[in-house]
Formats: sequence, structure tokens, C-alpha cells
Amino acid sequence: MTLATVPRYDRDRITDRGGHVVVVGAGVAGLLAARVLADAVDEVTVIDRDPLPGEPVARRGVPQSRQIHILWEAGRAVLEELFPGYSEELLAAGGVNIDGRRDLYLYSQGGYLAAGTKPFPLYAATRPLYEQLLRRRVADVDGITLRGGCRFVDYCVDDDATTVQGVTIRETRSRRTGLSADLVVDATGRTSRTPTWLERHGYRPPPTEEVRIDLAYSATCLERPEDDHRMVGILAEAPRTRGGAVLPVEDGRWLVNLHGVHGDHPPTEPEASSAFAASLPTPIVSDLLAEFPTVSDEIAFYPFPSNRRYRYEDLERFPDGLLVVGDALASFNPIYGQGMSVAALEALVLHRALATEAREQLARRFFDRAAEVVDTAWLLATGADLSFSQTQGTRPRGTAFVDWYLSRLFRNAHIDSVLTDAFTRVLSMQDPPSSLLRPGVMWRVCRPGRSRGVSMPRDPPGGRVRDRSVENTARLPRERTRL
Ligand SMILES: Cc1cc2nc3c(=O)[nH]c(=O)nc-3n(C[C@H](O)[C@H](O)[C@H](O)COP(=O)(O)OP(=O)(O)OC[C@H]3O[C@@H](n4cnc5c(N)ncnc54)[C@H](O)[C@@H]3O)c2cc1C
Repeated sequence: MTLATVPRYDRDRITDRGGHVVVVGAGVAGLLAARVLADAVDEVTVIDRDPLPGEPVARRGVPQSRQIHILWEAGRAVLEELFPGYSEELLAAGGVNIDGRRDLYLYSQGGYLAAGTKPFPLYAATRPLYEQLLRRRVADVDGITLRGGCRFVDYCVDDDATTVQGVTIRETRSRRTGLSADLVVDATGRTSRTPTWLERHGYRPPPTEEVRIDLAYSATCLERPEDDHRMVGILAEAPRTRGGAVLPVEDGRWLVNLHGVHGDHPPTEPEASSAFAASLPTPIVSDLLAEFPTVSDEIAFYPFPSNRRYRYEDLERFPDGLLVVGDALASFNPIYGQGMSVAALEALVLHRALATEAREQLARRFFDRAAEVVDTAWLLATGADLSFSQTQGTRPRGTAFVDWYLSRLFRNAHIDSVLTDAFTRVLSMQDPPSSLLRPGVMWRVCRPGRSRGVSMPRDPPGGRVRDRSVENTARLPRERTRL
């Protein structure tokens, strides 16, 4: 499910059921869940083990927050629906409005995709800034209380463990206490303990899908000329295990990402890091690192071993009074940048699940539809991961065709803006992957002769493409002068 098909926000559909909800985790998924729940109940308490700062700073509980975070259009549109004016607030706080047609350079299959023709605005910032503005807006919603420095310890259940009735918490320097609730939402991210908790209380744990990719990210901050909004994505792509990305963010900076899969991890020493960047098939990242001063020598590192998805929708028994959202439900290879958008679409799914009168079966209604949101991101992330021969995991039927089709689509997109438009709408979770099989797109992908030996009409953003293994980079256009 994507922005095109998700049920949109409609406050009038929700009736107040009363009661108290505890959301565990004040990351993006927890904050968005709290926002839609506040329409339906009297009180929502969001707890987080971290202090929740008023400033946009990286938090310990979100170790990925120093890494590049792209907010695609699906996520931004939902944030705007739930918090009118959010996009403008992001820009006012220093976020960057990128014109995707002009400023986004996506490299795949040996060349840059042609510039798109359809409007493709992007709102770029650091993860701490997205989250801090969100936190501020959530704190202003009637009925919501944020409690930082408050660690979730356990769920409280009735005697036969059929209904979750609250949580046990521990606040800084105090003893454990209970917090009763009619509904508890697990938004604790990848460290979620719900699967093991279920097992301990006589439930089957959710069937789990895992695709190991042994990915690691690094992040460096560069000084950026204020009016330079270029954004670059050279994603690892089988058999090339390395990639990089560049995102303009607030305070006149670029966040520069390097990544590598299957153990080919980016280093954290500046010199070795530059050498890693120089090994990418196009020199843009390496040129940026050479030309612009780094804000500090610190290079943040983040390992991401596997895509993991819990199939709660397949469980026959699940306790009442409990939901699981965001990364706690599924987390996937972040190189496509879809986690926050998935969390946002899940919030709309929860909103619609709350529109049904009955409180019973809320979890079933939510998990069934949330699975459709996760499917979209999972398909893209694990599909690309499984195209590496080193990746362990069951290849779904049709994988070979999908690999062939997408690589042909990317090669033809080097000269065909319609294909760039179609792909970026899928990447940004506006349209479903199936939209790439529409006759008008399929014809452009499959027509004879287009994917061989073509010259690339788009100037690469600096330097020559080095990847000689791909046929259609053979004749490159004149290089753009300097970055
Ligand atoms: C390296 C990396 C890069 C990424 N890049 C992108 C990107 O470009 N674009 C994108 O959209 N997404 C990206 N993501 C995904 C994105 O970070 C998440 O999918 C999204 O933020 C939703 O996460 P969440 O809120 O479910 O969990 P988290 O953000 O992990 O938040 C979980 C919260 O739960 C709290 N918590 C945990 N345990 C407890 C406890 N016991 N008690 C109380 N509180 C607790 C934590 O402190 C934290 O605040 C990336 C992820 C990674 C790892």
C-alpha cells in the first residue's frame, strides 16, 4: 500500500472511545501513532527511555539518527496531513527544499537517470530535526503527554494473559511503577521485546522473515554553499557492494553517506573513507569530500545486519490491548530511505482501523492492513538485496524476471525521463511497484534496442562514470566543470 491507495486522514470518521493509551517509544512511528490515537481516546502517554530534548539533537535511543535520512513524498504528505504546516516549519527551521527534477542525481546500471519531468519536491533535513519538529507538534496535541527518561520494563497483563492492561516503567533514579492503559503500542524499534514476551506468556511468537545483508553506513558532514541543493544516490547494486549518497540538510551542510553490503563496510578514518568514496563508479562523492571542508573529523558508523519482518498478521492468537508499529513490526535495508514513510502510512492505517466502532479486533484490523504497507518497502529492499549472490534467503518466484526488468528500466531511464518519473514515484512510496508494469511504462522498458549502447544525455554531477562493466556508459557526455 502506498500514498495512492492508503485511506487518507478524516477526523470526522473517528468517535471518542475514551480511555488511556501508552505508546512506548517516541521515535517517528511512536509519535505518529500517538497523534492518530489522540483523536479516539481521552489520554495518550508517550514514554521513551531517552530524555526528550527541545533541540534537534541525536539521541542515544535512536543510534541511526546521525545517519542520512531521506523523507520521501509519501511520508511528507502524511506528516502534512496530520500536522498542517509541518513542511513549512521544516523549511523555516533550515530544512532544504529540493527540486527533484533538477537536483536529484540517481545513479544506477552504469549511468545517471535522466532528469524527471514531473514535479518532485523533496524536503530534506537531518533525522533529529524531522523528529524534534514532530515532537513539538505532538506535544501540542490535546490529550498527549510525552515522558522522557522513562524506560519500559514489561507489559502488565490480566491473570490469563489475554489482555495487556498497562506497562511497568522505571523513571530515572526511581523504582519501578505501573502505568495502566486500555491499549499499549510497541514503537520501540528494532529492539522490540514483544516477540519474546509473547512466547513467555504462552503465545506463538510471530513468524519472522529475515534477509541478511550485513550492511554498514557511515556519515560525514560537509560545509555546503547555501544555494547548492544537489542530492545524490549511488546505491550499492549487485554485484557492486559499495555505494554512497549525499543529502543537503540544514545549517548549510551536506550529509555524506558511504555504505557497503556483505561486509564491505565503509571505514571511519577520514583518509580511508576518501579512498572508499573514490572507489565508487562515479567521482561525485569523492570530489565533494575533496572540495568542501568537513564540519568535524568524526565519522559516524552504523551497522545494519539484516532486514527483519514480524508477521503478526499471521498469528491466530494475540493479546487484546496491544499493537506493534514501525521498525518493531518491520525494518528493512535503509538505502531506499523508506522507514519513516512506512511509519507515516501505518499511522493512517491505524487511523482507519480506529474508525471502526468495535475496540475488539483492533490489532487484527491494523496488522492486516499494515502488512500491505510493509509489503511495498519490503519488496523493493529485499528484492535488491537478494540480487546479490552472497545474500542468503528464499528468492520469491519471479525474482529473475524482476531483476532483469528493473535493470533494463534503469538503463533505459538514462535517456527516458518518463521512466525516471515512474521509478521515483515508486521509490517515494507514492505509487505501488506494480505501476512500473503499466503498459506505457512496460513498452518503454521492453522496446527493442533502447537499452544498448546509448549515450547519456544528462551531465553527470562532476567527473566521469568509471563503471565500465555496463554497456551503455560507453559514450559519456561532456563533463560538467566543477562541483
Ligand atoms: C542507518 C539507517 C538509516 C535510515 N535512513 C532512513 C531514511 O533515509 N529514510 C527513512 O525514512 N528511514 C530511514 N531509516 C529508518 C528510520 O530510522 C525508521 O524506520 C523510522 O524512524 C521508524 O522508526 P521507529 O520509530 O519505529 O523506531 P526508532 O526510531 O528506533 O525509535 C524507537 C524509540 O523507542 C525508544 N525505546 C526503545 N526501547 C525502549 C524502552 N525499553 N523504553 C522506552 N523507550 C524505548 C527509543 O529510545 C526510540 O526513541 C533508517 C534507518 C537506519 C538504521
